[in-house]
Amino acid sequence: MNSYRESIAEVLFDESRISAAIDEMAAAIARDFSGEPILVVGVLKGALFAFTDLVRAIARRPNGPSDLSVETIWASSYGNATRSSGEVQLRKDVAGSIRGRNVLLVDDIVDNGLTMQYLRELLVQRAPARLRTAALLEKPERRLVNVRLDYVGLRCPNAFVVGYGLDYRELYRNLPIIARLKPESFAPEN
Ligand code: 5GP
Repeated sequence: MNSYRESIAEVLFDESRISAAIDEMAAAIARDFSGEPILVVGVLKGALFAFTDLVRAIARRPNGPSDLSVETIWASSYGNATRSSGEVQLRKDVAGSIRGRNVLLVDDIVDNGLTMQYLRELLVQRAPARLRTAALLEKPERRLVNVRLDYVGLRCPNAFVVGYGLDYRELYRNLPIIARLKPESFAPEN
């Protein structure tokens, strides 16, 4: 028994569910970009795990993109550990030009939608050929902005979740599952 299990209230998505969701997203992406080059941009740090699993799943599909390149971008919103303030800060940009390229932006979770909206608008100004968005998880109930989401893996209940890249104060990213934490696992907020 791993010690992290003591902090978890409920496993929402286990490894096989996550992997099936990634495979479904990969199938749709491979179909939509069949025979075309694509640049997949992962949003640090939360999407790291979904991003790397997704690009490998795309590569396994027959008749997928002709070439696949990867880049990362790092955005974070100010706020406390479980609630975003809605103000997004760009910490690291993509390297190189995306002008005239097919770009797929991959984030971990779309909650109020402001991070994805900010990143989408940032990249769209640079005139990519096609810009598509993907999120492993979305919380439809919490949406504040109607940002375009082309590929969604799993619908998440209105709860703060950790695991598979998602953290609470930089912990739990390494969990292979996505889970809700027990209330006593949260530090008192100040
Ligand atoms: P949004 O701007 O859509 O509200 O939030 C996007 C970012 O907030 C995500 O990329 C993620 O970093 C963080 N976030 C939103 N909901 C959760 C959650 O339930 N758990 C964790 N660990 N991070 C979340």
